[in-house]
Amino acid sequence: MKLVIATKNTNKVREIRDKLGKVPEMEILSLFDVADIPDIVEDGADFAENAAKKALAVAEATSLMALADDSGLVVDALDGAPGIYSARYGGSGLTDSERCSLLLQRMATVPDGSRSARFVCAMALARPGTVLYAAEGICEGSITRAMRGEMGFGYDPVFLLEGSGLTMAEIGLDEKNRISHRARALDEVLKFFERFTI
Ligand code: IMP
Repeated sequence: MKLVIATKNTNKVREIRDKLGKVPEMEILSLFDVADIPDIVEDGADFAENAAKKALAVAEATSLMALADDSGLVVDALDGAPGIYSARYGGSGLTDSERCSLLLQRMATVPDGSRSARFVCAMALARPGTVLYAAEGICEGSITRAMRGEMGFGYDPVFLLEGSGLTMAEIGLDEKNRISHRARALDEVLKFFERFTI
């Protein structure tokens, strides 16, 4: 069974290979291994729609089973922003660090008890024409008052993990890959495969 992961992000490819490598007789490919896929416009109304759209597009273009994800940061005090616009919050020309600063600026007047936020990851598994399975992973936390930590990427330095005094940028990659929104969604996908193959 061949599965194409709908990404060229090498960290995601490694993380997904690590988990789904346990599924017997599954050959995991990424967009590096298949012919060029036409650009996919991520214009869905939520993470799940975007993930489904990407998975279907890649499944149809390759005639194989495809797994896609869409993720981002949801901040309650900002009515769910940056949400599905996480990657381009504040405009496409900003760096990760500039985006974090913008978020902190927009949260400046929000009191400590109202800074809850979560990372959300939607995953969709599709074969040509059909979404076979959809999963969601959530990692709860809150927004700090300043950036802390050097690891990770994106909004990690401003995301304080629930029940921990640490930001997502202060924990190691192994720990992040255990508790992150992506890891949790991937655990659900793994369970789906295990129900059918083990
Ligand atoms: P994508 O789903 O990988 O395209 O992620 C969309 C955007 O959400 C990224 O560009 C980041 O800004 C943000 N994001 C997603 N996952 C994470 C994470 O684990 N840490 C920090 N930011 C993230």
